[in-house]
Amino acid sequence: MKIPGEAKISIQIHCPQCGGDIAFLEDAHVIRCEFCGSALLIAGREGVLRYVLPAQVRDRQAAQAQALEHLTGLGKRSLRPAEAFLFYAPFWRMRGSVYLWVFGLKPMKVETEAGVPPPMERMKVLLTRLLDHTVPGYAGLEIGLSSLGVRSQALRLQSFDREHLEKRGSFLPLGTLLEQVQAEADRFSNLFFEAEGLITEVNLQSFVGKEFSVIYFPIWYVDCQHAEGREVLLIDAAGKKVLRIIPDGSSILKKLKGEESRKSFKFSELRFLPFRCPNCGWAFSFYPLSVLHFCSTCRRLWGEKGGEWAEVEYQTFWPALNQSMKELFWVPFWRFRTFIESGGERLETMADLYRIAPPPRVINQEKEGRRPIYFYIPAVKFRNPQLIHTLASRLTFM
Ligand SMILES: [Zn+2]
Ligand SMILES: [Zn+2]
Repeated sequence: MKIPGEAKISIQIHCPQCGGDIAFLEDAHVIRCEFCGSALLIAGREGVLRYVLPAQVRDRQAAQAQALEHLTGLGKRSLRPAEAFLFYAPFWRMRGSVYLWVFGLKPMKVETEAGVPPPMERMKVLLTRLLDHTVPGYAGLEIGLSSLGVRSQALRLQSFDREHLEKRGSFLPLGTLLEQVQAEADRFSNLFFEAEGLITEVNLQSFVGKEFSVIYFPIWYVDCQHAEGREVLLIDAAGKKVLRIIPDGSSILKKLKGEESRKSFKFSELRFLPFRCPNCGWAFSFYPLSVLHFCSTCRRLWGEKGGEWAEVEYQTFWPALNQSMKELFWVPFWRFRTFIESGGERLETMADLYRIAPPPRVINQEKEGRRPIYFYIPAVKFRNPQLIHTLASRLTFM
């Protein structure tokens, strides 16, 4: 069910400047074309994108030969291939990170007399998991593949383009709605996680960074005649495996011919912006994984919003006096102005927050009563989510 956590998925596009092939890891935000040298920011990711997994078996005769060999192995005689063609079946891919705080009780590690249970202490644990699942996106068919998760580690996906659109008749219609898949993703996010040795009192769960996309998977349809009649073999054109043998392929043919109405779904398309400061035209430094980019000439910060460059406000902390600037490096944090509603009460200032979560030091009530609540969240990716939490609370409660 799961695409292995370390699997690298790369996406292949045609350079919008020169048409050359560019392959990039799916986490990249900035890419460079090795043919014409242009650097581009990838935009258009806020919607649902679609990709095509290219077929490894591209030759009709090779697919037919595999089908015949398979049926021969099953003892079928007088084999003759008939119709054979490649088609694509849609799968929904859902990605995101699930965070779960578990608050509960844990037995203390102390010696007790025989038969006396140890005293309990209050504990909290942060559990996290990356969710990456695929589920069929076609409806009313059984093709012998319940997900894409079991296949190759390194998937190279092509961005769905005009060429694919022209072969529309080779693509099975999408039969599952995005709403259904979103509900499914929420169900998956709830299934897992157990805080070891902790008696749970309260759980707080959040499923963030949700992304949904559609991957079209290639399948050969090979019709074979033999002494006992005819059968259709469905062959995985990426993994070269027979998926299923069906006595009759008419339900697939019907769907491909579009005899049932195709539900129209509004897909997003990748767009590319020149990787230069929109204010002064200066080329940004090439940081492929960054979402924001700093212009070292006009000192403005930029990110993408709705397919365009948009300026982002920023401030810097003043370093302590006598601190040499050369010894410093700068870590970006997102800052959120926060209002908290809890039990009918509204918290607006740090003094309000400290009433609920007292800090281990004496605070100046008057000063804190004038300070809004700002949450600081690291804007850098750390592998360890606990570290993000520690840094975030350090700065928030500074
Ligand atoms: Zn190019
Ligand atoms: Zn600039």
